Amino acid sequence: MSELSVAVVGAGIAGLTFAATYGEACSLYEKAPAAPSIGCGLQIAPNAARVLHSLGLAEELGRRATKLQAREFRRWDTGATIACTQLGASCERLFGTPYYGVRRSDLHHMLLRRAPAVRTGQAVTSVADQGEKVRIDFSTGHPSIEHDIVIGADGIGSVVRNSVRPDNTVFSGQVIYRGLIPRDRVRHLFDEPKAVIWVGPARHFVCYPVGEFVSFSASVPADDSWEQESWTAPGSVNALAEAYIGWSRDLHAVIGAADHVSRWALVDREPVDEWNSGRITLIGDAAHPMLPYAAQGANQAIEDAAALAAALRGRGAQQVPSALHRLMRVRSERVGKIQRVSRELGMTLHLPDGPEQIARDTAMATSSLTELTWLWGYEPDKAITA
Ligand SMILES: Cc1cc2nc3c(=O)[nH]c(=O)nc-3n(C[C@H](O)[C@H](O)[C@H](O)COP(=O)(O)OP(=O)(O)OC[C@H]3O[C@@H](n4cnc5c(N)ncnc54)[C@H](O)[C@@H]3O)c2cc1C
Repeated sequence: MSELSVAVVGAGIAGLTFAATYGEACSLYEKAPAAPSIGCGLQIAPNAARVLHSLGLAEELGRRATKLQAREFRRWDTGATIACTQLGASCERLFGTPYYGVRRSDLHHMLLRRAPAVRTGQAVTSVADQGEKVRIDFSTGHPSIEHDIVIGADGIGSVVRNSVRPDNTVFSGQVIYRGLIPRDRVRHLFDEPKAVIWVGPARHFVCYPVGEFVSFSASVPADDSWEQESWTAPGSVNALAEAYIGWSRDLHAVIGAADHVSRWALVDREPVDEWNSGRITLIGDAAHPMLPYAAQGANQAIEDAAALAAALRGRGAQQVPSALHRLMRVRSERVGKIQRVSRELGMTLHLPDGPEQIARDTAMATSSLTELTWLWGYEPDKAITA
């Protein structure tokens, strides 16, 4: 039994994974009144899937998520295949787990059942490190409370982050539309469960099955008059279709099957190496929001959670600041690299037709899964205890 009194602010993917992995008592504060049923798909790569399997979720993921068998890049106009990477058995052989497509709300519910009870409807307004303890204040009339350590897992608009450092943002010039459609409406496109990515000038479109649904996300250039980072802001299906005029017929079959879409401004941030302030630390999007092109946001949140749990397990209150400091050194190097890779990938995927695009297509066609060993073969708990 730990002597540490640990508080987690935010019961999203990072917060719940931490609470489930830590295995000792902790208090979870969540502003939402209940578990959300909104949200589209997440791609869960082996680096995060191994953490989820270690929580006993392999069977449930097998039932509710989709094991993606391949990842296919296609040309924007003709839909011709540029490259197809087999995932399926190759991925399991090389990295020990499948590559999953899962509905965020399904993963959220799976984690909720593995974590201690969440105190819902408790929006945190500020946290203050007072030396031996950290004070948490709430907006909802709940009295302030003190803990030995506070973990900010409160996502992209983190309040806890305000006590650690400023959030320096730059609009990327792109917005992303997301949608979820019943798989039956486009079943002809997904005989084999695979991720399909159409790439072309200034934009790309990703879709993959998640259980009985197909999730899609589509990046579109935009001016800087609309910068809302919100999972619920509505978009227009017609505007999305117009943004992809001249693109593949199959892509338009996916858009045409959508009843509604959400719209989200893609905001970029430089990698940072400051996630701690004394006994306050950050994980997931609160620590390091990243552009979505490498599909690693949720995966890095899960890695952070597993690494933090390993770093804190069995520690006493006096050891917290040094454990957090060491953790941040290990994690910031890895996450910073992934943030940079994701940003570069965005530029590569959006090349106009020409010599650079031809070189890109050739490189993609000859790439192999083993090139991803640095990313998908990583074990966060071992990296932190090494
Ligand atoms: C409702 C919702 C839907 C999403 N849908 C998608 C999607 O379709 N596709 C995708 O790629 N990503 C989606 N995401 C984001 C994705 O889950 C994260 O980018 C990623 O998993 C990193 O997880 P995280 O735990 O850091 O953040 P999140 O999973 O966003 O979790 C943050 C949690 O903190 C809570 N919170 C925020 N502020 C406070 C506060 N002041 N006090 C207490 N609690 C607070 C939030 O309600 C949320 O539960 C969604 C997030 C949310 C919250």
